[in-house]
Amino acid sequence: MRNKEYKEKRDFSKTNEPFGDKGKGKTNEPIFVIQKHDASHLHYDFRIEIDGTLKSWSVPKGPSTDPHEKRLAVPTEDHPLEYADFEGMIPEGQYGGGTVMIWDRGTFDNIAEDEKGKPISLKKSYENGTVEIYLKGEKLKGGYALIKMKSGNMEGNWLLIKMDDDKADARRNPVNTETKSVKTGRSLEEIKKEKPK
Ligand code: MN
Repeated sequence: MRNKEYKEKRDFSKTNEPFGDKGKGKTNEPIFVIQKHDASHLHYDFRIEIDGTLKSWSVPKGPSTDPHEKRLAVPTEDHPLEYADFEGMIPEGQYGGGTVMIWDRGTFDNIAEDEKGKPISLKKSYENGTVEIYLKGEKLKGGYALIKMKSGNMEGNWLLIKMDDDKADARRNPVNTETKSVKTGRSLEEIKKEKPK
């Protein structure tokens, strides 16, 4: 079953989150979403489409536009593609209970190449622990790398790093200055007024 862990963690009679058997809709390009999630602690869920599912990381500080910043990205369970459209309240007591905002979303290009300049598939990049993508979001644009740490006490965690390209900007701090939903324009407080299921 696809997204088994995702489904096992949730009681769909209690949460409005999608069961996830519908897919993503129109676009052929791979999609990404960044969901600001105010649960037991505030974090940003970074999700990218690989092989029909949303590979997911929890990024406590959120993404940066400064190539010198390395942001910790803790891998979490795959989410269904439909989840990219989810914004709202997860009831208290349910897995991930709290507020979810679609902070940014869009499509992306896989820009990973081997030493000879040949493209590396997303699946292979993910398995190798080095994903290089070009985001075409509303807030975030340009190259980002996700690098898996393979030794040390952070082994198994990843780092999310802005590539040094023409979209890099050390002065921008979108996590702090661009705080509203790209789907509905709402703030977290406004989403919080929504009645959970
Ligand atoms: Mn989360």
